[in-house]
Amino acid sequence: MRNRRSALAAIAATASLALTLSACGQNSEGGSEENKGDAKGSTVGIAMPTKSSERWIADGANVVKGLKAKGYKTKLVYGEDDPDQQVSQIENLITQGVSALIIAAIDNKSLDNVLQQAADANIPVISYDRLILGTENVDYYASFDNEKVGELQGGYIVDKLGLKDGSKKGPFNVELFAGSNDDNNTKYFFQGAMNVLQPYIDKKQLVVKSGQTKLNQVTTLRWDGGTAQKRMDDLLTSAYKSDRVDAVLSPYDGISIGILSALKSDDYGSKSKPLPIVTGQDAEVASVKSIIAGQQTQTVYKDTRKLADVATNMVDSVLNDKKPETNDTKTYDNGAKVVPAYLLDPVSVDKTNYKEVVVDSGYIKESDLK
Ligand code: BGC
Repeated sequence: MRNRRSALAAIAATASLALTLSACGQNSEGGSEENKGDAKGSTVGIAMPTKSSERWIADGANVVKGLKAKGYKTKLVYGEDDPDQQVSQIENLITQGVSALIIAAIDNKSLDNVLQQAADANIPVISYDRLILGTENVDYYASFDNEKVGELQGGYIVDKLGLKDGSKKGPFNVELFAGSNDDNNTKYFFQGAMNVLQPYIDKKQLVVKSGQTKLNQVTTLRWDGGTAQKRMDDLLTSAYKSDRVDAVLSPYDGISIGILSALKSDDYGSKSKPLPIVTGQDAEVASVKSIIAGQQTQTVYKDTRKLADVATNMVDSVLNDKKPETNDTKTYDNGAKVVPAYLLDPVSVDKTNYKEVVVDSGYIKESDLK
């Protein structure tokens, strides 16, 4: 057996063969010492994208906690949304001899070379939340049902506007925002939302006055709230001089906050000009507060504690030559292979259920929402 990755393929084939192969693995050449023999006590490298958003800070902390509870040491790095910085951070982790890598990519296409180095060093890789593209050197994917996230956002809009139950016919004006074009999740979120919105756009019950309905017209590089604010400002100036916008599809809370700032600067939120429906994602504290205050309308809650559990269980299984649990082996084709995935369920949250969903579950403390 040449490396752990070939052992993983073998595990998928037969358990007994895998046992033999893993025994061979103890003698394989090259690679870090730590990923041979007893995995417990080895160090797992974790590369997260940015500290500019709460969720990734929580993800990092939860993954560290989960791995420590399983007896591993950890090295956690954040790439400040800079793909080159993330590549060099991962190179460093490999040099330091980590036994496995958990990576939430910044640019999902920028990791080919560094993941080849990981493969050469027999280091298994778990793609965390965002699928890494174009390389065979990614073993498993832990995420949420990303298309469903978009369906919850689009579904919320048609529901709240009264289009779904037919109580209103429209037409209503809607504008569309998507996430970063270098994040594989972006297209799933957008596709999910458009699955729901497109039929109403086709029937002219929803009108996108800017005309910007293609993914490449509506992305927001690095999920940046300021970039979204600027685009919303421009849309209001160019397409809404005499009309009002009734709903804005926003894929992420940080983007929603930017959109709301632009809307408020244009007098939305005043008595005569109510705010439109604005969706979101991640149930970040600032956005849940905004929902309570009647500004942002909705967010999609993804329990990142559960995601951390899935990812740390995957690492533990792989390092102990066991097959990790997956529940989707078809959807996530990264261009080089279909990456076996475990997908968790996202939940739509608004003013009516935030307490039950995010507070009662202990995700956010009630006192943090004051
Ligand atoms: C994550 C979202 C997050 C976004 C911006 C995506 O890859 O799945 O939860 O809102 O990145 O950080």
